[in-house]
Amino acid sequence: MYDIDNILNQTGFTKSDIIELLSVEDKGEIDKIRLRAYEIMKQNCGEEVYLRGLIEFSNYCINDCYYCGIRKSNSNVERYILNKDEIIESAKWCADNGYGSLVLQSGERTDDQFIDFIEDIVRTIKTETRSQKLPEGLGVTLCVGEQTLENYKRLYNAGSHRYLLRIETSSEKLYAELHPDYQSFQKRVECLKLLKLTGFQVGTGVMIGFPNQTLEDLANDILFFKEMDIDMIGMGPYIVHNQTPMSDLSDIYKGRKQEIYQLALKMIAITRIVLKDVNIAATTALQAMYPMGREAGLMYGANIIMPLLTPTGVREQYQLYEGKPCLDEFSSDCFECIQRRIESTGRTIAKDAWGDPKHFFNDHLRSDF
Ligand code: SAH
Repeated sequence: MYDIDNILNQTGFTKSDIIELLSVEDKGEIDKIRLRAYEIMKQNCGEEVYLRGLIEFSNYCINDCYYCGIRKSNSNVERYILNKDEIIESAKWCADNGYGSLVLQSGERTDDQFIDFIEDIVRTIKTETRSQKLPEGLGVTLCVGEQTLENYKRLYNAGSHRYLLRIETSSEKLYAELHPDYQSFQKRVECLKLLKLTGFQVGTGVMIGFPNQTLEDLANDILFFKEMDIDMIGMGPYIVHNQTPMSDLSDIYKGRKQEIYQLALKMIAITRIVLKDVNIAATTALQAMYPMGREAGLMYGANIIMPLLTPTGVREQYQLYEGKPCLDEFSSDCFECIQRRIESTGRTIAKDAWGDPKHFFNDHLRSDF
């Protein structure tokens, strides 16, 4: 018999320790993991929750990930790209409401026109959202996929300072099962390295509950985050989209819902316990599974929430998975709702703050010695 308390009180963790923690099913023991994660979050990051307004500004995509609803082969999706005014308006709303940071997310494109567009948007956001409370404007995070080093540098120099690029799974074998041949695992890893090199605070993450994904794969995911010196983590359950090649899993997944949800929460807690000072998001996919999913994420050690700012008219066109919440709500509804939800967990929102990951600075301090 392993002793969960012994594992939790360690400072370093082996792969088998992580697998042991992931396999815990007893409610009392899961609670111990959750409480330990919360304590570690409190010590390393504080209890405040940071907001990033999420603008899904385009669903055009050159990639064809088998799990994703906006993959290029899904001809049922009406494609859109927001114009500059719409994006700037959302960004200003975000700044006026004290969010402090925003995330610009889209499907993948690598053409010059697209990069020029984002570069211009970032520059404009940075100048137009400056105020006494935010002297350097909103913190801008990008989530626009695999790019060249040159493009990453352009986007960084335009003023964005954080970048999210999920590895999706750290198992090269599983990655190959989930993507067409021209999308390579190695290239994605390379991009994460280029992002670090550029100077970005780098976020990555995985989906939890893929077919054939083992607890060992998930333990390796956490070790991958550590090895790659990642600053921010966004993870969530894999949810079937019925216009994808994986749609025939739909029935099987109905039966696995509770199991996958629990596993996703355990992943958040264990990632917090192992990585300590990183930012971890309680993602929308958790809420798509269960209405209180994001609040649960906060209780398991997450410290970031990304309320949706995408204009209501196009939200429906950006469905990565079934059951995306808040489709017909306005940003202001989401704002009030999110405040209530966060306060219901006993936490407070850090207003007008970028909320950078402590890891990024601790890391620089460490490397000074
Ligand atoms: N094109 C950008 C943004 C992609 S969407 C990029 O590659 O970075 C953001 C994330 O949504 C993806 O990285 C993926 O992890 C997640 N996602 C896609 N399909 C999903 C699904 N069916 N269930 C749960 N999450 C999904």
